[in-house]
Amino acid sequence: MELDNHAEDLASDLGVDKEEVKSDLQNLVEYSVPIDEAKQSLRRKYGDGSSGGSGTPSAKDVAEIDPDDGNVTVTGVVLTAGERSIRYQGDDHVIVEGRIADDTGVIDYTAWEDFGLEPGDTITAGNASVREWDGEPELNLGESTSLSFEETPLDVPYEIGGEAQLAELRTGDRAVTVEASVLECERRTIDGRDGETEILSGVFGDESGRLPFTNWEPTPEIEAGGSVRIENAYVKEFRGVPEVNVSTFSTVTELDRAIDVGADATSMAIGEAVRTGGIYDVEVVGNLIAVRDGSGLIQRCPECYRVTQKGQCRTHGEVDAVDDLRVKAILDDGTGTVTVVLDDELTQRVYGGTLEDALEQARDAMDQEVVADTIRERIVGREYRVRGHLTVDDYGANLDAETFEENDDDPVERATAFLEAVGASDETERTEVDA
Ligand SMILES: [Zn+2]
Repeated sequence: MELDNHAEDLASDLGVDKEEVKSDLQNLVEYSVPIDEAKQSLRRKYGDGSSGGSGTPSAKDVAEIDPDDGNVTVTGVVLTAGERSIRYQGDDHVIVEGRIADDTGVIDYTAWEDFGLEPGDTITAGNASVREWDGEPELNLGESTSLSFEETPLDVPYEIGGEAQLAELRTGDRAVTVEASVLECERRTIDGRDGETEILSGVFGDESGRLPFTNWEPTPEIEAGGSVRIENAYVKEFRGVPEVNVSTFSTVTELDRAIDVGADATSMAIGEAVRTGGIYDVEVVGNLIAVRDGSGLIQRCPECYRVTQKGQCRTHGEVDAVDDLRVKAILDDGTGTVTVVLDDELTQRVYGGTLEDALEQARDAMDQEVVADTIRERIVGREYRVRGHLTVDDYGANLDAETFEENDDDPVERATAFLEAVGASDETERTEVDA
């Protein structure tokens, strides 16, 4: 009974679940911890810096923060601060996300309260809780965090603000600012969490590359052919590649100047590209070492477009399958392999014939595998330069090809480009060569 009262006091003080506090208290008391000690320890655990005497955690450098730290006190500069709405336990909350840095490093944070954080502010966050996100520590600034703004700005070796080029953006990035040309844009109706909603989706481009986007509340400034500056966007993975998310909290401004869109995709070694976890627009060069099963003349379900086996779709059962052409081929550059997927048009080019030609060849041979065999003879053992969308999942890396060209570069030039792509030549060496 007494324990119950203590638990209730603590729970209301700390704003946490009473049953959870009670079971923690029970544990400690069972280990003969005096009730006052036990309560103080729980205050530390649930992060109430204001009471319990020694409850305020010691100050730490950003680089020293470990996912297991519990609570820390940090002084740093707010690099970015972007608002976002999330649904938490059935309610919409506005949170602020971004990055904080001191001279030792940078850490992501989420602020659950409105502290009025602005990029450039130097702050001390007392009793910020640390949680692990994707293997990295992240700061949570909440009710129990005492936040103060420092008069003397801290000098940090990081850029304040979230200005970025599209090619630099990675899934999980928050509060980013991009200036981009709207290459494609369409209005779509989707089944959102609040029923049917209209959104815009398309592709942004800048000097560095291209990236798909979603605009959750269609903004008139975003239209095909225009160019825009977007502040406070975040990056989320969609269909295996990073996507720029433009929300109600983003600021969209029309630009009266054109943004040049680089004609070249980012060139990478295959191993390096696969390690990024997915890129919307990338170019790799490698040897085509095999054409996989399921290539050449294939049949697809008319409903879901999946490849059928003997007229059976895995989802729709017996269907009136539709003929199609595609290639799934393995490309290898010594640093890694990727499955290159060619659509019907690219497949027609490497096959040297149309779907009708393929059907005729298959009829004559009474075997549709002859189409894949013909393609194999034409492309296996040759070197190709492939540009497209790379997705990586548990089943491997797939490169959806937009272009697929036999590589006829000078081998010396190619070797140099390859070494640069894998980072083998450093800045000084290159300068000497150039001079
Ligand atoms: Zn189907």
